[in-house]
Amino acid sequence: MRFVITAGPTREPIDPVRYISNRSSGKMGYAIAKAALEAGHDVVLISGPVHLDPLRDVHVIPILTSDEMYNAVHRAVRDCDALVMCAAVADYKPRKVSATKIKKRDAHFSLELTLTRDILGSLQSKGRQFLVVGFAAETNDVEANAQKKLHAKHCDIIVANDVSSAASGMESDQNEVTILFRSGETKKISRAPKKIIARELVKIFSNTREKRLTKKM
Ligand code: C5P
Repeated sequence: MRFVITAGPTREPIDPVRYISNRSSGKMGYAIAKAALEAGHDVVLISGPVHLDPLRDVHVIPILTSDEMYNAVHRAVRDCDALVMCAAVADYKPRKVSATKIKKRDAHFSLELTLTRDILGSLQSKGRQFLVVGFAAETNDVEANAQKKLHAKHCDIIVANDVSSAASGMESDQNEVTILFRSGETKKISRAPKKIIARELVKIFSNTREKRLTKKM
């Protein structure tokens, strides 16, 4: 199978030296890319800025902003069997980017933010040939919020994780996830190293894709 995997944070510039970003380390996305490769799949990895060792035999497309990730994903899905949107894409970006460094003044300062383009939400769901997997990092009501995202973003699968605990989720080497399928079925993977979770996820993604193909035939 040909996998397109996104990983890491995006950076939304404020001025030439400042940006808005998040704590995503990219570890989960990189672990999925590695697991997919080890399972014999082809992998394109669209990666935000991370401090991880580069993966061998993976075609990496480096990006910084959500707009760059949007364009890279739209290009890459023209030739893929599964899109795994593991990246923590910023939800907001500064409405205007200053061309020069914003000077400190002795006054209150506020920044106007505007929504970024929703990459998952922008993918045509009708007649789509590839599997679409979204991730939901939540601090509360994890399953209920993930269920809403599954439908709102027209995903086939949502992988939900609770990022409120330091022991799993963002930056950690461990994770525990709940997988929600369109059929309403759910599956939990209890706390384990991201490497182990990634192997399990790759199996689930390829099985779901296989099942969908046999159903259509
Ligand atoms: O709504 P939220 O940002 O929590 O949704 C998370 C999922 O949506 C992730 O799979 C993320 O990669 C994706 N996303 C996106 N475009 C955005 C923001 C998030 O595709 N602008």
